[in-house]
Amino acid sequence: MSVNAQNYKTILEKTKAAGASLVAVSKIKPVSDIKALYDLGQRDFGENYVQELVEKQPQLPEDIRWHFIGHLQSNKIKYIAPFVHLIHGVDSEKLLLEIDKQARKNNRVIDCLLQVHVAQEATKFGFDGAEVTALIDRIGSGALALPNIRVKGLMAMASFTEDVEKLKQEFTAMKTLFEKNATRETSNLKLETLSMGMSGDYALALEYGSTMIRVGSLLFGARS
Ligand SMILES: *Cc1c(COP(=O)(O)O)cnc(C)c1O
Repeated sequence: MSVNAQNYKTILEKTKAAGASLVAVSKIKPVSDIKALYDLGQRDFGENYVQELVEKQPQLPEDIRWHFIGHLQSNKIKYIAPFVHLIHGVDSEKLLLEIDKQARKNNRVIDCLLQVHVAQEATKFGFDGAEVTALIDRIGSGALALPNIRVKGLMAMASFTEDVEKLKQEFTAMKTLFEKNATRETSNLKLETLSMGMSGDYALALEYGSTMIRVGSLLFGARS
C-alpha cells in the first residue's frame, strides 16, 4: 500500500484541531491507493482531471465525496455534474452559469468555491479580490441568478515558495477577503469554506484560517 498512514494521522489531527477538513488529493494515483486511504477512514478526495475522475468514480465506494480541484472547462462539466460534491476552482462567471445549467439538468444543486488568485505567479487562474467581491454582490443581490448553485466559499493556491512571510501575507489576504464577504447570505450564497493549504504549506494555512486543506503528496507520495 503506498499510502503514508503516519502522515495521514498527523495531518488529520492538526486539521481536526483547527476545526477544518481534509481533502486527499489523489490525482494521477491509482484507485488502489484511494481505497487504502478510504479504509483508514478518509471520505473526501480531490481530483484535477475530468476524464480521470470519471474513470475512477465508478470503481470506488459510493460514499466518497469527490472534490474537483482542477481547472474546469465548460464543455466537461456535464461529465461530473451527476455526482461531484464540491467544485473548488470556479474562475469565471461563464463557468458558474454552465455549472448551474448542468446541475439543473441533473436535478441537483452543486456546491462551488470561487477561486482567487492571491499568488504572484501570473499563470494562476482565478479572480482578484475586487472581482470576486463584485461577483458575490451580484449573486447576493439576485442580479445574477444561479438557482442550482450554492456558492460555499473561496479557494486559493498560495505562491510556490518557502518564503514563510510571503505565505503568511497571502493567507492573511485570503482570510480578510473571506471574512469581508462572509456577511452576505442568501439561499444560494453562504461563505463557510476557505480552501487553502497543500502539502508544503498546510500547517501554516490552518494557522491562518483555512477551513479546508487539499493535501496530496504527503499522503500518497510524490507524483511522477
Ligand atoms: C495537486 C494539487 C494539490 C495537492 O498538492 P500537494 O502538494 O501534492 O499536496 C492541492 N490543490 C490543487 C489545486 C492541486 O492541483
